[in-house]
Amino acid sequence: GSRDSAGLIRAEEAVLAPNYRPLPVVVARAEGAWVEDVEGRRYLDLLAGYSALNFGHRHPVLVEAAHRQLDRLTLTSRAFHNDRLAGFAERLAALTGQEMVLPMNTGAEAVESAVKVARKWAYEVKGVPDGQATIVVAADNFHGRTTTIVGFSTDGTARAGFGPFAPGFRIVPYNDLPALEAAVDATTAAVLLEPVQGEAGVIVPDDGYLTAVREITRRAGCLFVADEIQSGLGRTGSTLAVDLEDVTPDLVLLGKALGGGLVPVSAVVGRRDVLGVLGPGTHGSTFGGNPLAAAVGSAVVGLLETGEYQRRAAELGIVLRDGLAPLVGRGVLGFRTRGLWAGVDVDPALGTGREVGERLLAEGVLVKDTHGSTLRIAPPLTITEDQLRGALSALERVLTTA
Ligand code: PLP
Repeated sequence: GSRDSAGLIRAEEAVLAPNYRPLPVVVARAEGAWVEDVEGRRYLDLLAGYSALNFGHRHPVLVEAAHRQLDRLTLTSRAFHNDRLAGFAERLAALTGQEMVLPMNTGAEAVESAVKVARKWAYEVKGVPDGQATIVVAADNFHGRTTTIVGFSTDGTARAGFGPFAPGFRIVPYNDLPALEAAVDATTAAVLLEPVQGEAGVIVPDDGYLTAVREITRRAGCLFVADEIQSGLGRTGSTLAVDLEDVTPDLVLLGKALGGGLVPVSAVVGRRDVLGVLGPGTHGSTFGGNPLAAAVGSAVVGLLETGEYQRRAAELGIVLRDGLAPLVGRGVLGFRTRGLWAGVDVDPALGTGREVGERLLAEGVLVKDTHGSTLRIAPPLTITEDQLRGALSALERVLTTA
């Protein structure tokens, strides 16, 4: 019929704004690391919703928390209190070693919120002259899609046609400490970085980089804002990627997996004296901190409190790394991993990342390409070792039998 996969793809193309070009698979159901399409074909999900599905599809603990909350209370707005928010914020602050929580919904909103907080802090606490605050960011960053955020992107496709852009951002090369040091001055409100650059291709900075960023920002009297929206909540083998260097940023941005793949939940977590610059009426969100989000977010924190998922990411990360290593020179030019997360540079002679992704789809494995010929591999942290090995075998087949 017309509503088979091909029919649904045609229907989408006719009515949806064309800002995505999805792989040609129409998912109808999913569980754990498996997804199933309209025709009942099964695939292993190695994208995991860009790490929004760290706990897999429909984790029973999260689904149960959502069901229970759906039957009691879903939304109050923050014109009133709700009985779920305090517990969620307490647990999230404790998990991340921070003091205060600003709940939002999407990742981009958390980033925007941090930009506002950092500027207000710079004017009110640091004493930067009004209107002159600067924020230092990294080249090849990805922090979201709002006009302010794409304004400090270095990706031409993300920016082109969307100006004029907000001023007040300085861009330095990632993983370049002298450049960062040179860019920070008396106007600097914050340095905003991804501890691992996800969309850029899982770019892992040198050991000691995050520690040095912490030192530079401390000395300069500005904030260190870590965007852990993709790197955080277990992916790298620790709760936060900054934990791997024992670094405590002033603000940490969380999103994606914080909503367990069920609802959009994001947050800025950080120091009381920084988030405390926000007074009533200075910032807000209709849905931020809603009881359904808080119930699911609280259950997500509960999963991470066990340490099980961080441990799985670390252990399976070794399987991933050891599975990719023999492919170097056999279709793979190079790769980087951090926990259960890899950027794999495929030999362009074998086709674009997109084409390799389509071949993997035919082998029953879903991955997403980024920047031409890089594949990003980020399975649910619940994937089994056998499933992961199966996916790696499929990758090997696709790369070596072109
Ligand atoms: N920050 C980082 C590091 C991300 O990877 C993303 C999304 O990919 C975002 C922010 C934006 O999140 P959202 O798409 O929920 O706005």
